[in-house]
Parts: sequence; structure tokens; C-alpha cells
Amino acid sequence: MQIKQIIGKAVNIQLTQPLKVTFGEIQSVESLMIKITTDTGLIGYGEACPFEPVTGESIETEKVALTAVSKAITGENPLCIERVHSLMDSQTVGHTALKAGIDIALYDLMGKAANLPIYQLLGGSDNQIHTDITISIDEPRKMANEAVDYVSKGFSALKVKTGIDQQSDEEAIREILNAVGNKALVKIDANQGWNAKQTIRILNEFQNTQLQIVEQPLPYWQHEENKVIRSAIMQDLMLDESVHTPSDAYQVISNGEADIVNIKLMKSAGIFGAEGINKVAEAAGIRCMIGCMAETRLGICAAAHFAAAHQNVAFCDLDSFLMFKEPDWLSGGFTNEGGLLTLSDKPGLGMTINI
Ligand SMILES: [Mg+2]
Repeated sequence: MQIKQIIGKAVNIQLTQPLKVTFGEIQSVESLMIKITTDTGLIGYGEACPFEPVTGESIETEKVALTAVSKAITGENPLCIERVHSLMDSQTVGHTALKAGIDIALYDLMGKAANLPIYQLLGGSDNQIHTDITISIDEPRKMANEAVDYVSKGFSALKVKTGIDQQSDEEAIREILNAVGNKALVKIDANQGWNAKQTIRILNEFQNTQLQIVEQPLPYWQHEENKVIRSAIMQDLMLDESVHTPSDAYQVISNGEADIVNIKLMKSAGIFGAEGINKVAEAAGIRCMIGCMAETRLGICAAAHFAAAHQNVAFCDLDSFLMFKEPDWLSGGFTNEGGLLTLSDKPGLGMTINI
């Protein structure tokens, strides 16, 4: 089998309500859908969802990188995933979301060629995962009401965005913890918005509560301070923006900076890189979470297959699709009931895509 053609199509997806995080307020999302056609007629689909504050990519840069990368891998066997990644890397460094889009399409093709859903292709046996749900920054009382609403809908893990204003961050955490009691695990994600002293003080205020994980409180490059935080708080420290590659994971873990690593396919250049990060972490006794940027159901489906296949991926933050008016050209892959995603057993991603 040979890769015959690679097409990237930009799509605009509206959110049902605006999402506010430290990077700003998001109303709609642009994503690049990837379609790889082979000489056998098999077609694979992927998604390259750019997010400039984290990987430096936009739809425009993705299109430029796609032209270069396509030249290098057209004619290659899509089943030779390591070779294809190596050829992509030889063309351009970084551009991990674009590479993730191609990677996902290749895993879709591999699954279709093997007649296996991706989670089975990766050696997994379980077709279900639980995702948390994100509460974006708002008035503390509104955030607490939202938390109660999600818990009543079946979600047992909440991810609370913080990091803009310290005082309202603390108020929001307190209100949410009081409102949901012991019905949900609470993680907070400061998206690099705090310093080490603030982090230690805030986390120590909420010791022995359902607030059990703090994600990336510090700027991605502040490695030594992560160690200081980790030794001063009871909660687990999860790193997100600090870890893009297996080698980043090796460095932060061997430096004693993390209890949990947040993998995102758009940072790791897809499932191939995610497998590497998870293996490094697992070997060091560190658990992983799989997160997302603002992928549609397609990118989320790929991440859910990866998570379902691996026991060491202990947490899932795969909720972006819940915030979209889902397009009619994209369906299937999994069903969702209160955050329990059940994957389809159709080959590859098991999705219906018309692009
Ligand atoms: Mg994060």
C-alpha cells in the first residue's frame, strides 16, 4: 500500500458557549482535517488542531508544513509509521499538530488495513474511558453551579481552569469544593498563570479535600521551581505545557518534577509520540493523563483509542467536542453517556467523515 494523496481542509467549528482560559476567550475553533488516500482505495482521516500559545502553529503554518511534509511521504507505505515520522521530522522540526493530523490518519489506515479498531491495534482490550469536564473561568458562584450541573449529569471528575486572578481562583475552588462535596475528583489547571509561592499557598489551603491534582501552575520553562512545589504540597503535580515529547517526559521525570504527565496528541505529533511518552512515564512509575486542545470528535476519538489501550493512562480530559455545535459531516467513533465514552468496534477510528 502506498500513500497517493494528502489533503488538508480547514474547518470552522462554533462553540456552544465561549471558553475563558488564561490565554484569552475562545468563541470558535479552526481545525485542519486531513484526508490520506492510498493506491488501494483505503482512506484515512486525521485532525491537526492548531493552538498557537502551546505549539506555535496556526492553520496557515500547518498548510505550509503540510506541503513540505506531503512531498516527503507521498509514495511511502502508510503502515511503516516509524519511517513516516522520521521522514516528516527530516523535513521540519516541531509542527506537532500538523504531524499529529497525519499520524492519526495513518493509524486510521492501519486499523482499516488490519480490520481492527485502533485501541486493539495498539494492544488494548478495553473500549471505554471516562473523561472529566472542564469548567472555564467565570464568576465563582457560576462556576460552582456549573460544577453541580455536571455532577448531576454523571461526571465524576472536574477540571477547573484558574490562573487569571488569584483571589477569584481561590473563591471558585472553595465554592466548587463545597458544592460538589465528595461526589467528584477536582483538578485545577492554572495554565502557567501562577508562581511557586502562590501555588504552594493555595494548594496548602485545600489539603485533604477533593482537590487532588494541580496542573501546570508555572511557566513551562520553570523546572527547578516544579521540584520546590512538589516537595511542599500534598496534591499531585501534573505537567502539561512543559512536556511535548518523550525526551521532555524523560527530563522532567528524571529531574523529579512531576507526579503525572499530561499527553496531548497535538503536542506529541500524534499517537506515535504519545506511545513514547507513556512508556517513559510508565517505566518511571509516573501516570499519564491524555488531554486535548480544541479538537472535534475526530481528534478526540483518536485520543480516546490511545487512552483505552493503556492502563497507565489513568486520567482523560477529552471534553472539547462537548463544547461544539457538532458538524453534520462528522459522526460516529464513540458514544458518550455522562463522560463515559464507549468506542466503536469498527476498523480504525470507526467514524463517518465527509470532507
Ligand atoms: Mg493544561
